Amino acid sequence: MCPFLPNLGSSLCHHVFQPYLDAMTVHFPFQNSYSALPDSFFARVAPTPVAAPRLIKLNRPLAVQLGLDPDVLETPEGAEILAGKTVPAGADPIAMAYAGHQFGQFVPQLGDGRAVLLGEVIDKDGIRRDIQLKGSGPTPFSRRGDGRAALGPVLREYIVSEAMFALGIPTTRSLAAVVTGEHVIRETALPGAVLTRVASSHIRVGTFQFFAVRRDTDAIRRLADHVIARHYPELLGNERPYHALLAGVVTRQANLIARWLLVGFIHGVMNTDNSSISGETIDYGPCAFMDAYNPAQVFSSIDEMGRYAYANQPRIALWNLTRLAECLLPLFSEDQEKAVAEAQDILGAFPETFSKAYQAGLRRKVGLFTEHDGDEALIQDLLDAMAKNQADFTLTFRKLGDAAGDETGVADVRAQFMDPAAFDEWAKRWRERTALESQTAAERRTAMHAVNPAFIPRNHRVEAVIQAAVNNDDYAPFEELVKVLAKPFEDQPEYAAYADPPLPSQRVLQTFCGT
Ligand code: AMP
Ligand code: MG
Repeated sequence: MCPFLPNLGSSLCHHVFQPYLDAMTVHFPFQNSYSALPDSFFARVAPTPVAAPRLIKLNRPLAVQLGLDPDVLETPEGAEILAGKTVPAGADPIAMAYAGHQFGQFVPQLGDGRAVLLGEVIDKDGIRRDIQLKGSGPTPFSRRGDGRAALGPVLREYIVSEAMFALGIPTTRSLAAVVTGEHVIRETALPGAVLTRVASSHIRVGTFQFFAVRRDTDAIRRLADHVIARHYPELLGNERPYHALLAGVVTRQANLIARWLLVGFIHGVMNTDNSSISGETIDYGPCAFMDAYNPAQVFSSIDEMGRYAYANQPRIALWNLTRLAECLLPLFSEDQEKAVAEAQDILGAFPETFSKAYQAGLRRKVGLFTEHDGDEALIQDLLDAMAKNQADFTLTFRKLGDAAGDETGVADVRAQFMDPAAFDEWAKRWRERTALESQTAAERRTAMHAVNPAFIPRNHRVEAVIQAAVNNDDYAPFEELVKVLAKPFEDQPEYAAYADPPLPSQRVLQTFCGT
């Protein structure tokens, strides 16, 4: 019977009324591929319903990019989906299986313990994107965890992932944050929340390790084929596709880490399960941007040995890639020795690929358009002086762009150095070097400002935003910070204070996973 017009036949009823219903309901154009892989790749599990979902933030431009209707997502029904209270049509919710090295220790089974992949959509650019709920309740991979996330870490991931995106750095993104109306118990009871995470996939080095430790070569091949089709389609038909896949991941990771270093980003937990095969930054936990330049900087409270310190990140990425290579050996050759030699050869490209990307990025940061002998040493001398003088990483480069334009900018750069004379000495050499190039001062300033952000998610700002939200249910600071960070390369004079480093009393020395 037709619920709207009892006399109408059911097929006609559907025909007449369905379009109206569709317009009001949340429609995700899912096209799932990972859940079509063998059962050993995941566990089917729905999100666990929560008490009283409330939408905190919807990323409207991202929703549009994904082919979703932001207005409908902002309705109470939309919030229920984003909180995992209802599962939208076409979803095929799963928790993905993976293993991983955590701080160097191998754990054969980790998996999505507090996340559920709803499904995949093809975005406006034709790119397949995972839509995942993080904090959506227990799964078969939860071990002793509650499957939930606290509001603080959800806001942190939202802020920092979207800031990375605005900085042009490959990253997972944040579609939404909701509070669940329930508490999660950590050291204290905290408001629970769910983040909707969008990624080009959630396949990690640890996903390969999950099958490698089980000696399931067929699954490794299946996974590798899936990854090639999805992330490295240019390799389809390659005569050595698995070698080329490793080389492709090496290239993307080397470039990614260079991008991190160039903005002062410290991931904090570069475990192999947090190392993405697509080359996106993934899993924002105790991550942070440094204020004063310090290559040994660590923020994460659990990184006691400094394994994941700022300047260690390239080395660690290569270590993680070596673990990936080990998983792929059976696909390389039946001759183990030959396979190892081939893998070593491919991994051997990492240092140079990284260094090229990093050095090119540094040259842009100091406004060099051409390459000369001695550039590397010149830039290293600046970095050394910055480290010695606790110069703010972001502001030094930003203000150096102003100094390129006119002499008045120089005072602002000098002010970053404990001993400003350390800058003067260097600046003299820099001016001699830039004088060899034909670009005008204005051109140099513009080019430098396009790569040196004014605004990064400074730790003390992120913490203040979280405190306001958690303690006072006040999201205005969060909204404002997200707004400022969306345009990191614009001066935004009305928000100039957001560019400031913390006062000594505001400094945040440690960050926490908060899981
Ligand atoms: P992460 O530190 O977020 O990379 O997580 C490492 C592992 O711990 C992953 O397998 C997560 O799914 C799992 N995990 C983290 N937090 C929780 C939680 N609250 N409940 C269940 N599993 C969790
Ligand atoms: Mg993780």
